[in-house]
Amino acid sequence: MAGKPSTKLDTYQRMRRFNQTPEPSGQAAEKAMARRASKKAQASALSFVIQEHDARRLHYDFRLELDDTLKSWAVPKGPSLDPSVKRLAVHVEDHPIDYGSFEGYIPEGNYGAGSVIVWDRGTWEPQAGSIDEARETYARGKLKFVLHGEKLHGGWTLVRSNMRGNSDKEQWLLIKERDDEARSEADYDVLLKQPGSVMSDSLGARSKSGEVRERTERKNAARQSRASRTTKAAPPPKRPAVKDQGKSPERPRPDIVANRSGESLRTLADNPAIQDAIRAKLPATMKPQLATLVDIAPSSDDWSYEIKFDGYRVLVRIDREAASKAKSTQPRDRCARG
Ligand code: MN
Repeated sequence: MAGKPSTKLDTYQRMRRFNQTPEPSGQAAEKAMARRASKKAQASALSFVIQEHDARRLHYDFRLELDDTLKSWAVPKGPSLDPSVKRLAVHVEDHPIDYGSFEGYIPEGNYGAGSVIVWDRGTWEPQAGSIDEARETYARGKLKFVLHGEKLHGGWTLVRSNMRGNSDKEQWLLIKERDDEARSEADYDVLLKQPGSVMSDSLGARSKSGEVRERTERKNAARQSRASRTTKAAPPPKRPAVKDQGKSPERPRPDIVANRSGESLRTLADNPAIQDAIRAKLPATMKPQLATLVDIAPSSDDWSYEIKFDGYRVLVRIDREAASKAKSTQPRDRCARG
């Protein structure tokens, strides 16, 4: 959508006081753009950048150059190389091109207060077709592209969802395509494996060289505290298993399924030594989890996205003992309307 440049950066500029924040005002970019537009040539590589923004909540700002601005999404959990992982990407205001090399500290009291580093950058191209076609699909809510970054490579998709956040912002999903660059999240969490800035010296240039490292530790701490929030219904595994614990049977038993995200259930399945678990018979009946219709997605980031199919939810369980005793008393329970 080729609006006037001043219109595109309007929101960005309105939200910031450039006498107080070190972020670029976008005016230089607008001038350069005018120069370029007059030359008309120039269509070479388009840039992308992912900035790690340690604001009130740590997130990753994903930005793709298109039409002389950076189309921008805030990705609370950051990118994942796992094609089965869909990361929420909140569409935010266009940013000026020169924001792509911005690192620094946005002072308290300003919009987005906190530190920003360039976590990755490089160029992008449409997966198929021309930039013009990419522009059209973007306007319709879908963009398939290939990244040539220092950390991220291969095919990716950004697609607008029907979810609505608690603001008027569009909620998109960022998804890795299945290709040679894909890795399973359990295998390789790119955010943990490749922390820090890709800009030489980065924040270290301004203070001492320990700065980046310090940030990384803080980030890891933040991720851990988030992780423990996700799993608070049943504390992380790796603790001594059932038999070492039998002391306080009064202790409330953790509900190992309710309140868990799909991700945390997968973690649990990989590490079944659940703290405080008590060996017992399977319950006589179980209820499937049903979808609840809401207008807005939860504000926390420990939830997962799942397509809701209409129909019946069916729970099937394997209970060898019962099966051998009474083969077909209850061969299957059709549980509930989903
Ligand atoms: Mn941000």
